[in-house]
Amino acid sequence: MAGKKTLVTGAGGFIGGHLVEYLRNKGINDIVAVDIKPFEEWYQVWDYADNKVLDLRKWDACVESVKGCDTVYNLAADMGGMGFIENNKALCMISVLINTHMVMAAKEERAHRFFYASSACVYNGEKQQDVDNPGLKEEDAYPALAEDGYGWEKLFSERMCRHFMEDFGIVTRVARFHNVYGPHGTFDGGREKAPAAICRKVINSKLTGDHNIEIWGDGHQTRSFMYIDDCTYGIDRIMSSHIDYPINLGSAEMVSINQLVDMVEDIAGIKLDRHYNLNAPKGVRGRSSDNTLIEKELGWEPSISLREGMEKTYAWIYDQITSNVKSKV
Ligand code: NAD
Repeated sequence: MAGKKTLVTGAGGFIGGHLVEYLRNKGINDIVAVDIKPFEEWYQVWDYADNKVLDLRKWDACVESVKGCDTVYNLAADMGGMGFIENNKALCMISVLINTHMVMAAKEERAHRFFYASSACVYNGEKQQDVDNPGLKEEDAYPALAEDGYGWEKLFSERMCRHFMEDFGIVTRVARFHNVYGPHGTFDGGREKAPAAICRKVINSKLTGDHNIEIWGDGHQTRSFMYIDDCTYGIDRIMSSHIDYPINLGSAEMVSINQLVDMVEDIAGIKLDRHYNLNAPKGVRGRSSDNTLIEKELGWEPSISLREGMEKTYAWIYDQITSNVKSKV
């Protein structure tokens, strides 16, 4: 018999940590939270959850995690921003073991619903060569030409979820996240993404008085960024919906990296000299989310403005950096 507990994997990570809090605030009490990292490296540890450190590439760990769980949110993956995924393709692909073993264990333990965190990196690269990207539609994943390594793993795992639903009846739901940002995430060390990296660089300039900033690429490349609160709410809506195909979960507010830097400079009250590193990992030229389908299905789309989200993110990273500086004095 299936149990009644809810499992969040990758709970020591950015989105997983916020999702545990979101679910608890919604009244879900019996939560199992799993991550491979030791507890002191989790971004958030919630005492009310049953927290476990396990390597979910391993079959036994997946079975142990999912025991007694009716609902599974699988967010565990070895991932990071462009700097990480362009240089660690094998590691990214090995995450296929996590989703494969997780969905098999969920089926064996008779969980009813399974969520998989996919990514905009599944989309065909040829449809992202223009900075004026009109927004990627779900159908743009095929013909397949995903981001090498990370994107192919996500595309394969999406299909695995689909076939488990078709062949074994476990309800699987898949969202393609587009760049998620917010407090309690990575902002240094090599796995950080553009919003956090730019906040960190601007804050360091402010604190050190060195008014130079390095920008990866020519700054004209475009992206959209979704604030974490829209992400957790969207996961919940998609998980409890009838949407049985991979769907975009992202913001349609597209900006260039230069515009993002303008915004962070404005928040910080500083102007910096920009130096463009054209040899750094840049990713695709233009990417945004077409939200026609999610709007049609749910009557909702992510709508927290980039400015509002970046102010909160900047404030959190500023606190982290300044409290680290203070604690080292
Ligand atoms: P994150 O790196 O902060 O969280 C992922 C967590 O998974 C980490 O804490 C990591 O330790 C854990 N993990 C890795 N290998 C594991 C293993 N073998 N066993 C158990 N845990 C393991 O990343 P995130 O931003 O919170 O992303 C969560 C999910 O969303 C991932 O699947 C990611 O691919 C997907 N996603 C994120 C974004 C984004 O912008 N953040 C965009 C698209 C997709």
